[in-house]
Amino acid sequence: RENPSLAKMLVVFTVSGGSLMAYSEAKSENEMNIVKPTETDSKKKRVVVLGTGWAGTSFLKNLKNSSYDVQVISPRNYFAFTPLLPSVTCGTVEPRSIVEPIRNIVRKKNVAVHYWEAECFKIDAENKKVYCRSNLTNNPNEKEEIVVDYDYLVIAMGARPNTFNIPGVAENCHFLKEIEDAQKIRRTIIDCFERASLPNLSEEERKKILHFVVVGGGPTGVEFAAELHDYVNEDLVKLYPKVKDAVKITLLEATDHILNMFDKRITAFAEEKFQRDGIDVKTGAMVVKVSDKDISTKELKNGGSVSTMPYGMVVWSTGIGTRPVIMDFMKQIGQANRRVLATDEWLRVEGCDSIYALGDCATINQRKVMEDVWAIFRKADKDNSGTLTVKEFQEVLDDICERYPQVGLFLKNKQMHSLADLLKASKGDAVKESVEVNLEEFKSALSQVDSQMKNLPATAQVAAQQGSYLADCFNRMEECENNPEGPLRFRGEGRHRFRPFRYKHFGQFAPLGGEQTAAQLPGDWVSIGHSTQWLWYSVYASKLVSWRTRALVVSDWGRRFIFGRDSSCI
Ligand code: FAD
Repeated sequence: RENPSLAKMLVVFTVSGGSLMAYSEAKSENEMNIVKPTETDSKKKRVVVLGTGWAGTSFLKNLKNSSYDVQVISPRNYFAFTPLLPSVTCGTVEPRSIVEPIRNIVRKKNVAVHYWEAECFKIDAENKKVYCRSNLTNNPNEKEEIVVDYDYLVIAMGARPNTFNIPGVAENCHFLKEIEDAQKIRRTIIDCFERASLPNLSEEERKKILHFVVVGGGPTGVEFAAELHDYVNEDLVKLYPKVKDAVKITLLEATDHILNMFDKRITAFAEEKFQRDGIDVKTGAMVVKVSDKDISTKELKNGGSVSTMPYGMVVWSTGIGTRPVIMDFMKQIGQANRRVLATDEWLRVEGCDSIYALGDCATINQRKVMEDVWAIFRKADKDNSGTLTVKEFQEVLDDICERYPQVGLFLKNKQMHSLADLLKASKGDAVKESVEVNLEEFKSALSQVDSQMKNLPATAQVAAQQGSYLADCFNRMEECENNPEGPLRFRGEGRHRFRPFRYKHFGQFAPLGGEQTAAQLPGDWVSIGHSTQWLWYSVYASKLVSWRTRALVVSDWGRRFIFGRDSSCI
């Protein structure tokens, strides 16, 4: 926009009042690039969904109420099944097998859904507009801007890889976030093997080219290292026998252990297995710089000494960061000091009534929830004595369980019941209703709960459940407006009409290669080995978004078992 000649070329579309209109600063009205109005019924509430990932797609799949006009905006016109991305890097599964066009997903719905392939670059919460840009023009210098009005905005834009601003990471490392990333990694692996096979290379050069470094010992980094190890040992060693001894895989992790969010038994098994497989796991090693030839790490244990090693390919998998458009939006609404958008337990962005945020770009603000909980207790203390009777205390606790189920459950099961019992017992009478609970003592216990209430993990499981929860709220919005549900006190205080979002954890997998997987299932039930690999196959096949992708993935697995993985550099 700063370039005036470019600005002249900008064609701006406006979706407003149910019609889609275009205007251009440079063109006369006759020449305007007018896009035909959509079938939008102007009486319908306009819902704009940003993103076609786990959260956005789950919302769209579960939205059934035809009283909305839905505009979906995303630079990606498909949904990608990210848990199988590591398999795409080595050709175990083909990229097209794990994607489903978004138009296919929404095609059979009775809800009017319109998709625009564009990227949102600005959210204007005050005027209820989103500004988007499309690259789909014949002229590469010409970009189309689309301005879309909304009544409700659903932000499901996910996150981007986090480089922690470490020098050289963005320029020299591969990331594993999108389909294109996985395809690029696949090509680079083969390129490395072909380059290392060229004549006139010294052994040292060969070793450098075939040194694969994975940064990040979380589930994605570990799975990729395991996949790569299998690919090299099951397929590539047969095709490149002369260079097989030069191959090395290094896994770098800044903390003391890999897979540290899993049970200790899984961590120990994974570390031992990788050691047996010859994958060099370096823990306590923090990457400080990546150049185009080598990667420097700081040993966190040995007095912070820095060592440098040459590499052929680095895959960076250290977690997620905030997208610039989300950062701008957070500044706009006074959340600049946060990492992701803060929402309440109904997934509404704090301070923005008609904007919802879900998936990796948002988190429920537990601190705010705890403040609310504390305010409820203070309010119950009508005479301002700083105490509540046990009966009053129990009533408030029950109220919290209804309003904030996650906190309520936590308070009830773990802390507060025992605290209440303790307080009762300490006063020498466990049953008397007149016994008082000191709220200041209670507050300190509440702060302990606060520190133990963890943010929900940034996973597909959370994103998908949030999408389906929000769709359910939208499906019943009208009905609930006419007949508000829930306990009377909810209505009286103008609280939200729906029950808050509740996350149900179904467990997590960590594929470790060699047809072995570790699983941590609800109830901290741990299972590791070949049988768990079959559980992994069945769960992931069942979770795929369509029968088409299911059939493709299962046939890819079969092809790999029979013919091995493909190593063509295409
Ligand atoms: P995404 O799925 O990332 O979707 C974001 C969407 O927003 C995309 O469609 C994107 O194109 C779109 N978008 C981006 N920018 C814009 C913009 N400016 N305007 C409009 N749209 C935009 N989780 C699990 O639970 N289990 C697993 O086994 C697992 N394995 C994983 C393996 C890998 C390799 C990766 C990368 C992730 C894995 N995850 C897993 C995590 C999971 O993929 C994410 O938590 C999940 O994708 C988050 O969903 P989301 O909808 O918030 O974001």
